[in-house]
Amino acid sequence: MVSIERNPTRAVSIGSITVGAGNPIAPQSMTATHTQDVEATLGQVNALHAAGAGVVRIAVDSKKDAAALPAIRAGTQANLAIDLQENYRLAAEVAAYVDKLRYNPGHLYHHETEKPWQEKVKFIAGVAGDNDCALRVGVNCGSVDPAKKEQFADDDSIGPMLASALEHCELLDTIGFTRYVVSLKDSDPQKVIEVNRRFAEQRPDVPLHLGVTEAGMPPDGIIKTRIAFEQLVSRGIGDTVRVSLTVSNDRKPEEIEAANSILADIAAGRVRSVVDFGMESLNIISCPSCSRVENEAFIELAEEVKRMTAYAKDHAITIAVMGCRVNGPGETDDADLGLWCGPTHVNLKKGSEPLGAFAYDAILPRLREELDQLIAQRGPASTPAGA
Ligand code: SF4
Repeated sequence: MVSIERNPTRAVSIGSITVGAGNPIAPQSMTATHTQDVEATLGQVNALHAAGAGVVRIAVDSKKDAAALPAIRAGTQANLAIDLQENYRLAAEVAAYVDKLRYNPGHLYHHETEKPWQEKVKFIAGVAGDNDCALRVGVNCGSVDPAKKEQFADDDSIGPMLASALEHCELLDTIGFTRYVVSLKDSDPQKVIEVNRRFAEQRPDVPLHLGVTEAGMPPDGIIKTRIAFEQLVSRGIGDTVRVSLTVSNDRKPEEIEAANSILADIAAGRVRSVVDFGMESLNIISCPSCSRVENEAFIELAEEVKRMTAYAKDHAITIAVMGCRVNGPGETDDADLGLWCGPTHVNLKKGSEPLGAFAYDAILPRLREELDQLIAQRGPASTPAGA
């Protein structure tokens, strides 16, 4: 075993576990079933709990989702977190049934536009305090607060994420709510490393939840995540982790197995050489899927995209495949080619430019056309590594 000096973070209790303050790094995951389907959701919550998840997160986007929480709570011993997106007020309806609330600073502006974000955070923190819940301030590269983005150069994606997280911490501290963790996620492991290192330098006391968002399918998704975790955990950064993988519902516990295996390797000093994702090869990012997926054909599509594009493996091109309209449009902006899935159609984008919506059985040939064009524009493939 290697000796890693962990950052002196605060202890934050989440149900039966405590993260931070040197406690074991807890792996966590998120359900991808429809939250309102109590039987399926409970089945997945319990499978993740049995696999060793310290916390299981569930998306709550509507009152109907919220109404499923009492039955889910009654059917599991797992520590539960809920994921709030645009409708932050749903916190009040579910907090009594869970142990942690996650909010995304970049989604607070959607509702009650005239109300300052500070008021909304105070509301969420008040609900958390009244219901014995922890909080996560979950900042995501694809949905950073637009007001923060405006303050930074267009090509600086890290500055706005960092500033957003720091100002939320400051507000929570000011109002005396310190039972929170922070996450700063990106699909690029190098950015995850940089933003978390910079945050930890400024706030070594705040526990960090680490993750590479839209890491994709195994094994690539696990490799990308491993790169980020190795660099951060070996420097004492990180108190809880999620490995986000695009896998079918019955395989979700693989996220916990992957997290445990990466953490065990780091603890034993089995750190692999860092792969450069900076990089001269095809990079496919795909979201891990969650209850917001609108057409289950998304998982199969992500696999088909990977197979179909194999011929382009030596070209430095990024293709993003996202499961829904909540985060899909924003999170495909930085990819060369992006697909985000709606109920009946798949939306295709080239960078931030929309190219149209295509039926599920028509999207692959269209994607191939665009990929061929991009390859023709950019010229020959890079020299394969080792050649
Ligand atoms: S892109 Fe949509 S479906 Fe995919 S994980 Fe994010 S919220 Fe869920």
